[in-house]
Amino acid sequence: MDTNLPQTTQPRIVIVGCGFAGLRLAKDLEKLPVQVVVIDRNNYHNFQPLLYQVATGALEADSIAYPIRKIFAGQHNFYYRMADVERVDPARNLLETNIGDIHYDHLVLATGSLTNFFGLDSIEQNALQIKSIPNALNLRSNLFQNFEKAILTEDPAQRQALMNVVVVGGGPTGVEICGSLAEMRKDVLPKDYPELDLKKMEIYLIESGGEVLGPMSKESQVQAKKYLEDMGIHLRLNTHAQRFEDGKLYYSDTEFIRTQNLIWAAGVNGSALDGLPAEVVARNKRVGVDTYNRVLGLRNVYAIGDVANMVTDEMPRGYPMLAPVAIQQAEQLADNLGRLLKGDEMEPFKYINKGSMAIVGRNRAVVDLPGDLHFGGFLGWLTWLFVHLMTLVGFRNKAVTLVGWAISYFSSDKALRLIIRPYEHHDFDEYQGVKAAEHKAATPTYHPPVPAPEAPVVGG
Ligand SMILES: Cc1cc2nc3c(=O)[nH]c(=O)nc-3n(C[C@H](O)[C@H](O)[C@H](O)COP(=O)(O)OP(=O)(O)OC[C@H]3O[C@@H](n4cnc5c(N)ncnc54)[C@H](O)[C@@H]3O)c2cc1C
Repeated sequence: MDTNLPQTTQPRIVIVGCGFAGLRLAKDLEKLPVQVVVIDRNNYHNFQPLLYQVATGALEADSIAYPIRKIFAGQHNFYYRMADVERVDPARNLLETNIGDIHYDHLVLATGSLTNFFGLDSIEQNALQIKSIPNALNLRSNLFQNFEKAILTEDPAQRQALMNVVVVGGGPTGVEICGSLAEMRKDVLPKDYPELDLKKMEIYLIESGGEVLGPMSKESQVQAKKYLEDMGIHLRLNTHAQRFEDGKLYYSDTEFIRTQNLIWAAGVNGSALDGLPAEVVARNKRVGVDTYNRVLGLRNVYAIGDVANMVTDEMPRGYPMLAPVAIQQAEQLADNLGRLLKGDEMEPFKYINKGSMAIVGRNRAVVDLPGDLHFGGFLGWLTWLFVHLMTLVGFRNKAVTLVGWAISYFSSDKALRLIIRPYEHHDFDEYQGVKAAEHKAATPTYHPPVPAPEAPVVGG
């Protein structure tokens, strides 16, 4: 079965993943005489840098995602299949997916990355992730559901654990989510939960290194640290999260923080597919590629974006897992595939670093530009907003996001507090007040009368 893809005389380029890299590549292949097949398990492109805003109720999920078919409407050489790719078979030029096998002439892996829990099973099983839209919505639901529980409990330690948030990982994602939570604690939660003493809600940021925003400049690190401290975040640097048991995050054998909101933002691995030669998959599950993004040792398989491990003298540990790297590799590969079809020489990838930035809160962001230029504060914040707004896919998303941000800015409010989870009685059992528990114990359980068995039908 070839999943009903039309057979043509044109070469078929199959792209796995429609993130930043896959999307850009498929767009840039529009003018080439090729059949472009994009496979993604989600039918939308997800703008990951704004996931933390969905998780903290600042943006709705729909404004940071865009349907793949809509992005490519009108592109005549484009085909999409919603599927999970399970394995690649380079010897047969075949992808094995849950909807059937797909043949390729050229294959491009743009599968991105997965959360790395560094083998900490108790954390993997219980921590909240922030890698996908379902993750972000789950995180938001968890936070607000825990506040509902905090109102019910009469046990102060339990209430504290329900209100405490611990974020592990002091990179941009961890810093951004802490800043957003601190604003929520100041502006949103006191309005919604006047029965709770929100001054007691503690937000911790745990980072194994000696500073936050590790890959950024010293100036940005110092400024971001000050912003976080001013916003009342407890910074625990040089601290390793070890295990998470019974609502306690241990950072040594005996020391712990009580929390029912543990957010893991401490790192990612590449999302390599099974079936690739073992020697090209690094320990961090990134796939080794040459400077043309061709998978080492394979003629017609490429990897771009987070999953690609391009080691050069300049970048001995590979390029950073960032959206601009993914987009630029996609652009170069589109150009190179065009060259290949014409029989021309391919050109090696060269990264143009346009800078990096992180936002901590309202009027607080840090920006590093090439040439050792740094700035922050209101200008940094405006720069961050502008760059992220412009990179969002689709006019509707840009407009909705801009309006959402403007409302939040002027009203100091985040409108989205919906708990989007099925209501499960047992979720709340542990937290109901003592009186409710006593009442429940004293109330006899109602058992509906069991109907008498019907008389057997004779001779029917
Ligand atoms: C919370 C967060 C915040 C971030 N903030 C920033 C930031 O501020 N600036 C920045 O530059 N970068 C940021 N990044 C990193 C940036 O998002 C990534 O570098 C970028 O998304 C990489 O693009 P990609 O195309 O390689 O992978 P992705 O964008 O991750 O896309 C991979 C796609 O492949 C699909 N896929 C994967 N495996 C399969 C499979 N087996 N079958 C079918 N489909 C599959 C996935 O569904 C997904 O759509 C952030 C990341 C996160 C998680």
